[in-house]
Amino acid sequence: MVDGMSPTRLAGRMSRLGTESAFDVLVRARALEAQGREVVHLELGEPDFDTPEHIVEAGVKALQDGETHYTPAAGIPALREAIANHVSATRGVQYGPDNVVVTPGGKPIMFYAILALAGPGDEVIYPDPGFPIYGSVVNFAEATPKPLPLREERGFRFDLDELREMVSERTSLVIINSPGNPTGGVLGDEELSLLAELAEQYDFYVLSDEIYREIVYQGEPGKSIVSYPGMAERTIILDGFSKTYAMTGWRLGYGVMPRTLAEAVARLAINCNSCVPGFTQLAGVAALTGPQEPSRAMVTEFRRRRDAIVAGLNEIPDVRCQMPEGAFYVFPNVSAYGAGVADYLLNEAGVALLDGAGFGEQGTGYMRISYANSLPNIEKALERIADALENKQR
Ligand code: PLP
Repeated sequence: MVDGMSPTRLAGRMSRLGTESAFDVLVRARALEAQGREVVHLELGEPDFDTPEHIVEAGVKALQDGETHYTPAAGIPALREAIANHVSATRGVQYGPDNVVVTPGGKPIMFYAILALAGPGDEVIYPDPGFPIYGSVVNFAEATPKPLPLREERGFRFDLDELREMVSERTSLVIINSPGNPTGGVLGDEELSLLAELAEQYDFYVLSDEIYREIVYQGEPGKSIVSYPGMAERTIILDGFSKTYAMTGWRLGYGVMPRTLAEAVARLAINCNSCVPGFTQLAGVAALTGPQEPSRAMVTEFRRRRDAIVAGLNEIPDVRCQMPEGAFYVFPNVSAYGAGVADYLLNEAGVALLDGAGFGEQGTGYMRISYANSLPNIEKALERIADALENKQR
């Protein structure tokens, strides 16, 4: 193995870049499996279903047709148009292809949007607990991180007064994520109306991470912040194919935003990933324009699992678990069991899940459990968690 230079030779900015604990826990769980232990995997945020067949077929056909070359940095026209049509129809704002930038997964939109809009002296507000990459990139961009607490007692929504107090002339960007990772919480009209009002008053952008938009359990997906008055000019929608169409490994996502910002984001893409493979993008066209039943069937199955895991967790003494309205995560409060619960459950019970503290300060005392796994595995995990917690020293 080549070790290379000492870590102290890395550029200073690297000390400001964080990570995502799911991938670390996966490595540790795999190491236990290599020693012969059996582990139930509830750490990763990806559907356990295969990509629907008609989408795979479109990708294979595109490969066979020779779609193996560079494509335009912002995406092929067919996909940009399909995305513009889909987002216009679902968010109630008229978009065209020039508003769309296609990226390898939705994640690069976080990196590009934050780099494009925030720097030294700017404040960026983002959810806590929330997706760890938001805070990581805000720090990397040398902007000032302002984590906004999501409150368990409010169904993991933020407190209106806390948002009011946090925004100022220095706010350049507010990030929201609804339905949210890691809590499954969904923002309501009250929160979105206030945010829209403040965005206009203080002139900031909103990055609305809507990657779990289609995975909701009470009626239709909620309204997007972009449909509120004045917000089309100051919203970046992040969405993609990973969760809705079980396409995590294809790496296909997008941002939809005002045209001038889309040009800046495409320039960042040219400097980094150049483009997304053509065959992946053509699979994306098939996903958006083809039958949506496979996605709906997935949500129906997720709902059964959600109900089972919430009921099972709430039966364990001193564990408190809210019923999430969206995404495929639960975020139970296990603070009664002291520190290190996630590590303990991996090592003692062979259940891989994530410590809530990896999602921000407000996540301390919670765990994130992904229920994108089969019902039998969820039942097995619940039994193991209950047994192990009974024996845990507090
Ligand atoms: N946003 C949130 C809140 C997520 O949880 C994820 C993935 O876990 C993403 C965005 C990015 O998804 P991808 O880059 O796989 O499309």
